[in-house]
Amino acid sequence: MSVDPVLLLGAALLGGLGLAVGSFLNVVIYRVPQGMSVVRPPSACPGCRTPIAPRDNIPVLSWLLLRGRCRTCGSAISARYPAVEVLNAALWLALAAWAVGPAGIPALLPLLLVLGSAGVALFFIDLEHHRLPDAIVLPLYPVTLVGLVAAGLITGEWPLVPALIGVSAWVTVIGGLWFVSGGRGMGFGDVKLAPVLGATLGWVGVSAAVVALFAAFALGAIVGLALMAARRANRRSALPFGPFLLVGALIGLFAGDVIVDAYLGLMGAA
Ligand SMILES: [Zn+2]
Repeated sequence: MSVDPVLLLGAALLGGLGLAVGSFLNVVIYRVPQGMSVVRPPSACPGCRTPIAPRDNIPVLSWLLLRGRCRTCGSAISARYPAVEVLNAALWLALAAWAVGPAGIPALLPLLLVLGSAGVALFFIDLEHHRLPDAIVLPLYPVTLVGLVAAGLITGEWPLVPALIGVSAWVTVIGGLWFVSGGRGMGFGDVKLAPVLGATLGWVGVSAAVVALFAAFALGAIVGLALMAARRANRRSALPFGPFLLVGALIGLFAGDVIVDAYLGLMGAA
């Protein structure tokens, strides 16, 4: 087996850029819920307020070299920082592998990278603060529109009907649950995120959009039951649903067709 050097170089560049963007996502995750600017002031240690020197701001490496502590005051730096950087880089590589793969759409990759990174930020913010900030979700509307139109112009293919089915399915299910539960089972942030994920997944295929929804609810049920079993939660404690929608979206994208085929095969065999 030989490895294409161009492919290897591309992967190294994308992975490196993914780490750097992940570093910025850490700023987004920390500041956006507090309504702070993500540009100014420069990053500082939350413990001693010392600005972080460039040499201490290298993704993953600095955290490892500093052994997770501030150089000035020694207060602990959360392992979430390197984790977000690695996660974003790994996600970018996985999305690129999908895009250039047999079932992928290379022209969709720029949009997927943006949505993927926004998703990483939203995942951690929703987990901690139980909300999906408008400052991140609303700009995804024009971004998604531009990304899908660009993909259509490049490929000459316009899967508008599946995209609309994706939007309708996501908005109906998530909006419906939000309405029925009076905002307890599902937040309005989830409803606002639904058209973005529904349209992009639907563009890939109806199976991606539908499997993603099912996967989100299955994951939510599994994690909810596991937490109840571990007595970390009861039926009344609210679990943010955004993380499940985002992970479900990835499952739909990567495995939607495989899961639908397997399901239809089972039904056919029964
Ligand atoms: Zn410090």
